[in-house]
Amino acid sequence: AKDEGGGNHFEYEPSLHTNAEERRQLEVALRSALENDEFVLHYQPVVDAIDESVVSFEALMRWNSPEHGFVSPAKFIPIAEDTRLIVPIGTWVLNQACHEAAANWPEDVKVNINVSPEQLVEPDFAGTVVRALSHSGLDPSRLEIEVTESIFMRDAAVARKALEQCMALGCSVALDDFGTGYSSLGYLRKLKFTTIKVDRLFVQGAAQDSPESLAIVRAVVAMADSLGMTTTAEGVENQDEADLIRRLGCTKIQGYHFGRPMPAEDARKVVKRRGFD
Ligand code: C2E
Ligand code: CA
Ligand code: CA
Ligand code: CA
Repeated sequence: AKDEGGGNHFEYEPSLHTNAEERRQLEVALRSALENDEFVLHYQPVVDAIDESVVSFEALMRWNSPEHGFVSPAKFIPIAEDTRLIVPIGTWVLNQACHEAAANWPEDVKVNINVSPEQLVEPDFAGTVVRALSHSGLDPSRLEIEVTESIFMRDAAVARKALEQCMALGCSVALDDFGTGYSSLGYLRKLKFTTIKVDRLFVQGAAQDSPESLAIVRAVVAMADSLGMTTTAEGVENQDEADLIRRLGCTKIQGYHFGRPMPAEDARKVVKRRGFD
């Protein structure tokens, strides 16, 4: 399975190993990945639903391992979370993304950063955010922290307090993948999220004539409106989906139709010409 030529885009072959064995090997590789500079951030544009201008970029991790090649975050993030390696890795993401936004983007373009529950329950998560902001010089209003409903599963009070501290600094907080996890509307009472991100499952379903998905997106938008929260539709891949989402009244749109996650240099070009060709 190993690419003898050392090419960087082969898939690790899970079929040759047990799942547990693969996981163990990835864990070993993950332990030295940060110090060996194997991570990079890609940035995916988030656009205003009405005028389609770029309002933010979401930072998304990419791992190119010398032994395993390109490993999807869907695979390595859970391992990083289980081993708590996500704490130092997450701090790196925060610093890197804040620096990129402060140094290279216009002041009206924000950065969205994914944060795991394990990071939030660290004693001084808000302090980590304060340091990332002050080292980079990024204004707190330009940082949006994305969390999923899983933060409410364990140590909910601690996680909530950490997020409230970040909001007091002036950062925004988005509820990611809304509707896919152990959703409970009660969570929306516990924290005044800035944004609800509607999962692509519902977005794409709505466009593919699923009356249930359509009803759910409609209801989420109406609920967010009345709670004073904005909505971001995820996974918009074509014009039809974009048009539908705009009609449904989502505030922002993200998806391959407007741009895939791209290297930092490409994101800089996008903001330089203020949009897409
Ligand atoms: P997410 O936060 O829900 O990020 C959105 C995912 O959807 C990304 O996958 C993105 O590439 C993908 N996506 C965006 N637009 C489209 C579209 O139009 N169609 C389709 N099919 N997919 C689209 P990616 O980059 O593979 O990341 C997967 C997950 O890994 C993320 O889901 C997030 O949960 C996690 N992740 C990535 N980077 C980080 C990080 O720095 N920290 C943490 N804690 N988690 C991260
Ligand atoms: Ca996200
Ligand atoms: Ca998401
Ligand atoms: Ca997700």
